Amino acid sequence: MKAWKLDKLGSYEHLHMSDEPGSKPGKGEVSIRVSKACVNPIDRSVITGRFPWLQTPHVPGAEFIGEIDETGAGVSHLQAGMKVAVNPRLFCGKCHYCLRGKESACLGNEHIDSAPYLIGLQRHGGWSEHVNVPASNAIPVPDGLAQEQAVMAPVDGATAWHLVRRLRPEIGEVAVVMGSTGGVGLFALQLLRMYGCEVIAVAGTQEQEGMVKGLGADHVVMRSGDIASAVRKLTGGRGADLVVDPLGASTWQSSVSSLAPMGRYATCGTLTGIKAEINLLHLYSIQAEFIGSTGADRGDLDTVLRLMREGKLKGIADSTFSFDKLPEALKRLDEHGRKGKVLLNVA
Ligand SMILES: [Zn+2]
Repeated sequence: MKAWKLDKLGSYEHLHMSDEPGSKPGKGEVSIRVSKACVNPIDRSVITGRFPWLQTPHVPGAEFIGEIDETGAGVSHLQAGMKVAVNPRLFCGKCHYCLRGKESACLGNEHIDSAPYLIGLQRHGGWSEHVNVPASNAIPVPDGLAQEQAVMAPVDGATAWHLVRRLRPEIGEVAVVMGSTGGVGLFALQLLRMYGCEVIAVAGTQEQEGMVKGLGADHVVMRSGDIASAVRKLTGGRGADLVVDPLGASTWQSSVSSLAPMGRYATCGTLTGIKAEINLLHLYSIQAEFIGSTGADRGDLDTVLRLMREGKLKGIADSTFSFDKLPEALKRLDEHGRKGKVLLNVA
């Protein structure tokens, strides 16, 4: 079988397509014939060395779908031939959080304060024709949902759903989505509309403006301008009740300055940097809430797949590359003005 292997951490040049022997699924595992995968910022972080403890050689790829071709011992709820999306979140199934269905907070992650616990990170991922994963991470794809859609659910779709639920949106609240044309942003904006929020999307280009309006954004604010002033203007000076910001340092100040009294801010990423300054006086004076969110629980992915099947939520693909063109797909991931996700046709 063919797989993209990372020989050492640091740059895209250390990725090579190689022929691997493949292996039988272990106890409690299933073997998946990968059909489609995504190329995501988390994969870029893996390749470029954000996790220096990572062992190489390593097969990245945190987001993928496929068909089960073999089940390991002790697996009875899944059968060969089933189409599944792989929830990339690893979990122990035994700790305080796992027992409460909150696998995203699993204590089995020894890097819980700095890294997600993921297939594609702590074990081999889906940039491979075949991969073995724990059976409990394989979630059946509902009949009738196109593979091109299902493949966008496990990372961005489920992460957005988990984050939006943690924000506790209410009908009529005003929500700002920073990075609204990114993977998480595109889903978050649709979900907040679903909850009945008035959504202000922050976009980078005129072309992106059209796209987010098409997905239901009520207003679009350009990233190049003064975002917080624009938000104040649209809300009669009050500010936004909710701010979703997966970008991190570059938009932190705009996000905080956009918050209305009792406002809630949520982040699930630090694409532009991890350090930010907090004015505690401002924070408690406006009674703001700051919420961290990472990945998703198993139930989140199941819900997102169902919402996609019902046509209530859709993923947007920017481009699709054949499996051997991974280096070009990574190049596209880095380009400014991308509109949606970068996909790989593996099979
Ligand atoms: Zn656990």
